[in-house]
Amino acid sequence: MSETPTPIARRRTFAIISHPDAGKTTLTEKLLLFSGAIQIAGSVKARKASRHATSDWMEIEKQRGISVASSVMQMEWRDCVINLLDTPGHQDFSEDTYRVLTAVDAALMVIDAANGVEAQTLRLLEVCRARNTPIITFVNKMDREVRTPLDLMDEIERHLGMDAIPFTWPVGMGKNFHGVLDLRERRMRVFRPGEDRLDGGDETIDGLDNPALAARFGAELAQAREEIGLLSEATAEFDRAAFLAGRQSPLFFGSAINNFGVREVLDALVDQAPPPGPRPAVQRVVQPSEPKFTGMVFKIQANMDPAHRDRIAFVRVCSGRFERGMRLKVGRTGKEIRPNTVVAFMSQRRELLEEAWAGDIIGIPNHGTLRLGDTLTEGEALQFTGLPFFAPELFQAVEIADPLRSKQLRTGLMQLGEEGAIQVFRPHFSGSLLLGAVGTLQFDVVLHRLSGEYNVAARLAPTPYRVARWIHSDDERQLKRFIEENAHRIAYDVVDAPTILLTHAAELRVLQERWPDVSFHALREHA
Ligand code: GDP
Repeated sequence: MSETPTPIARRRTFAIISHPDAGKTTLTEKLLLFSGAIQIAGSVKARKASRHATSDWMEIEKQRGISVASSVMQMEWRDCVINLLDTPGHQDFSEDTYRVLTAVDAALMVIDAANGVEAQTLRLLEVCRARNTPIITFVNKMDREVRTPLDLMDEIERHLGMDAIPFTWPVGMGKNFHGVLDLRERRMRVFRPGEDRLDGGDETIDGLDNPALAARFGAELAQAREEIGLLSEATAEFDRAAFLAGRQSPLFFGSAINNFGVREVLDALVDQAPPPGPRPAVQRVVQPSEPKFTGMVFKIQANMDPAHRDRIAFVRVCSGRFERGMRLKVGRTGKEIRPNTVVAFMSQRRELLEEAWAGDIIGIPNHGTLRLGDTLTEGEALQFTGLPFFAPELFQAVEIADPLRSKQLRTGLMQLGEEGAIQVFRPHFSGSLLLGAVGTLQFDVVLHRLSGEYNVAARLAPTPYRVARWIHSDDERQLKRFIEENAHRIAYDVVDAPTILLTHAAELRVLQERWPDVSFHALREHA
């Protein structure tokens, strides 16, 4: 007898990662289209354009052709509810991306078949690897003249540090791209170009040895068969446990823009990707199937929609079921909130949400009650761990021409800091705030948003700082003494965690020697 899966067992929550231009936006759109989450067959351009229309500050994204903001989409495929979290592809936003990766159970990596594994993908992969996040790999743009599949597979394996297990294998490429052999279903899916064709249109031919294939696809088929022959000797069998432990990655080939190979990816998410798993908190490990609701804020975004000038906390539901109107306790402050207008995110439209289950992402509008890393419960004192903040490597002061706007500047910066768009430090001695970033583009975004959302014309001014470390000591007296003696270079971040700012990395070693009871951290995990 087959059991009906529980709503939680039916959840799949994944992030899509890639280097800019590999085809992430295109694939996302096709996944949504395929699963029926969006009805209108729009082109990538249309989607990108409409995204800009909903958010004017994303003009900067249009100018630079990069994806600044992450967003969340939900779709259904077979009997699963799939939550897709988009991640900014540009490296300057990787901090935000890292935090998004803490909210998912799997990742889909999109690779441009002409370029192979590119720089930004590598950094994101490191984060996935550190967390043993299972990764599904999609090699895109097979309709172009690209690198050979064996070559690509080899490169993916080297960079991933895991075995790539081909689920499909391409027959030809570019003008001679004929389709993919589905190695598990043992049939060929024949390629036909066309942008917005949905399921049902693809021709399939059963049997990998079917003579009809050789007759139609000649040299390319012979080549593919030879490659598969080589593979069967050299590659391991797919082992789901190894995939879930981050040691194997199912490999797919396709062409997102032609809507080809997309169905297989959706199937793999349903059949192979894991349902929500347990999550560590300071106090204990939380199981998704626990009846009581718990959730963690992994992203804050302001003014997503000019019509709703509020902030939205993106909450990953970690256990239980969320219901609209439920009373929730914020772990950090002990405050109670009762969100009535919780939003679900679907294909760029915000819709009101009635209930959500572990694995889902909900959006709670608020005016500063919720911060990055906050834990929400039905009353239990709990704090989830693992949301990373990285010590900035670039520092700038901010100046404004009109001193009457300094209050707005402060408000704007504090809000942007709490969102995680940039790190904001309040120096121990001076009143003016300092900005810290991992990538320089973060500064541009902040200036742009200060002028667009807070009506503050600001400019950047240099600072001498190059290094920041969060400081900690189990001995409170020592910490206090350290802060007093170094007050001229101490600053506090948005959660008031003390930080030391240095002009040279070498100073750090001197401090470490002089203060053995104080520790210096390049990474702050929210706790
Ligand atoms: P993103 O930056 O990763 O989101 O990439 P986009 O989805 O915006 O795609 C980058 C470019 O590649 C766009 O011009 C797409 O039209 C193009 N593209 C995406 N998928 C394919 C594909 O399968 N084949 C070809 N030839 N081009 C594609």
